[in-house]
Amino acid sequence: MKNRYDEKEAQAFVGAYPNCPPELALRVYTSRLLGAEDDLVLHGGGNTSVKCTITNLVGEAQDILYIKGSGWDLGVIAPQGFPGLDLAYLRKLRQVRDLSDAEMVNQFRTHLQDAGSPNPSIETLVHAFLPQRFIDHTHADAIVTLTNREEAEKHLHAALGDNIGILPFIMPGLPLALAMAELYERNPGIDCIILKNHGIFTFGEDAKTAYDRMIECVSRAEAYLAKRAAGATASPVVDPGVVQPAVVLPILRGGLSFVEESGRRRTMQLEVRRNQELLAALARPDAKELFVGGVLTPDHVIRTKNYPLWLEATGLDEEETKAAVHSGLARYQEEYDQYFATQTEAKKVARTKLDSMPRIALVPGLGVVAAGFTRKDAMIAADIAEHTIAAKLLGAPLGPYRELGQASIFDMEYWGLEQAKLGKAKPKPLEGRTALVTGGGGAIAMGIGRKLLEAGARVFMTDINQERLEVVCHNLADTFGSRMVSPLLVDVTSEEAVQLGLEQLVLDCGGLDILVPNAGIAHVAKLAELSEAAFRQVMDVNCMGVFQVIKGAIPIFKRQGTGGSIVINSSKNVFAPGASFGAYSASKAGAHQLGKIAALELAEFGVRVNMINADAIFDDGGVSSGLWDVVGPERMRSRNLDPEGLKDYYRQRNLLKTTVHADHVGNAVVFFASEQTPTTGATLPVDGGIMAAFPR
Ligand SMILES: [Zn+2]
Repeated sequence: MKNRYDEKEAQAFVGAYPNCPPELALRVYTSRLLGAEDDLVLHGGGNTSVKCTITNLVGEAQDILYIKGSGWDLGVIAPQGFPGLDLAYLRKLRQVRDLSDAEMVNQFRTHLQDAGSPNPSIETLVHAFLPQRFIDHTHADAIVTLTNREEAEKHLHAALGDNIGILPFIMPGLPLALAMAELYERNPGIDCIILKNHGIFTFGEDAKTAYDRMIECVSRAEAYLAKRAAGATASPVVDPGVVQPAVVLPILRGGLSFVEESGRRRTMQLEVRRNQELLAALARPDAKELFVGGVLTPDHVIRTKNYPLWLEATGLDEEETKAAVHSGLARYQEEYDQYFATQTEAKKVARTKLDSMPRIALVPGLGVVAAGFTRKDAMIAADIAEHTIAAKLLGAPLGPYRELGQASIFDMEYWGLEQAKLGKAKPKPLEGRTALVTGGGGAIAMGIGRKLLEAGARVFMTDINQERLEVVCHNLADTFGSRMVSPLLVDVTSEEAVQLGLEQLVLDCGGLDILVPNAGIAHVAKLAELSEAAFRQVMDVNCMGVFQVIKGAIPIFKRQGTGGSIVINSSKNVFAPGASFGAYSASKAGAHQLGKIAALELAEFGVRVNMINADAIFDDGGVSSGLWDVVGPERMRSRNLDPEGLKDYYRQRNLLKTTVHADHVGNAVVFFASEQTPTTGATLPVDGGIMAAFPR
């Protein structure tokens, strides 16, 4: 591992934070160096600290421990991510023999320098009881690869020499802090302390020494592993055969969905990783034995659960895949429930059971499939799974994997303070759901996308016009983050293009819950002047396009088996057509009727189909309506109006004298998609009230 310490950069940090002690600025610098290495810490793992003497408000010198706050990521940490605590007081806690988690956090919070600080790390007392000024702690892949083996001590000494301390796994908190302090005091010359099944601590009187020791230890462990791997015989790779992601993923996603006690259905986002190394690893004859084991370090358990699901779907047809997924998940859940029951009974504690679904599925021939209620959760779980597979593979020549016992895993997974947070944050109504909106490059799509994203859904937008599509997607991504919005270039009139687009979507997130056929074009001409080509083109996009996406989505809905929602952006024209607007009105009426047929045919699968009839929406946040770009000039000419006059004309013609916005359509989509009423086959006008267009 490369040592990235640079004296100039270090001094730049000191200069950048003139209002904090220079040691703290250096602490920020080397913490970021550690955080930049995925092989050291992943997603908020690890922690660092520094001890400084400051002058307090009443002019007294005071020793302060600055330690990483929970929720901060070392890679981006800043001085405010290091709550400062009264070090002299913390050290007195060594006399206490029994300290509950809640009381420990209370002791931290009541001895903070700044009452507004985040909670200090749960490993705070470890840092307080050790004497050195700078302490670095990571869950380095190479280190846990050595510790999670039979004969871990032998491998650790062979890799790192004898000047190290080794402890068995001990739950973070007071017991670990006492054990670490006692070990160090017995062996004050050691360079580091290794915690089996957990990670490594290095230390020093200055920032560079603690960091250098971390990189040195990890590099030695890496070199040792590389040498052992080079000497091992390569494993033969068996061809896993054909696995169809388009079939397996929606079935798996449907299987992972469950209904909570409250009656609320929870659905997850899937994240698929399938690079060559992963596929080769999963294709080894001993893959199941190697990879179906416990986590590398216990804080992964809240992200990935302790065990992955092993799923073989090679050569299976759709029905066989369903049977394999459902029996695999049933077995997984049974084992999880058993673990929960055994541990709560043995520990005589009451805990709220978490859902018993896996977060990682290992599917030979397909890859690693991670699941999470949000895409972020799924991505974090996937990152951890990739590192876990690499570490287990690299450690294989060292002997059998030794996972942490279930009693310790349970303590981490059901840590009291984490449990206290359960049920407090109410998930957004569409969290975990995936939506596809066609006609994604227009004003209405922007409103629909915005409201779906606000409700927590992940949104895919399709359009045939890449430029317009990107404008809308960038706009939405600015507010909701790029991981929640994905553009797909799709011509909805082509069966093949729709198929490819949906396959891409399934590979990206596992399935689909909400389909919003919204693509539409207009053409202004009286029937006498309407060309066959123009009529066909409008029919193709507005009617055939709706048919194609509904038809394409049906197999996904069926494979998932969790219902779904189709919301067609129809038109007030369906009930109140206009002269010179024959192609548009006829095509929209056709699509509307298709929606009703879909409602009839898809009810047995729990899929609801509803229509929204909106009136004139001209633009949204600088994005124009492609339809009104075509229709507007003619309408203005025929009524002798300017653009503002035209908007006013449409406002004045409805009963509520109101302007209809894209967000209004978005609200209607979210209403249907969140299934608040048992409604299908219905039409909801979003037009300010136009009597001629009342649904009938
Ligand atoms: Zn740790």
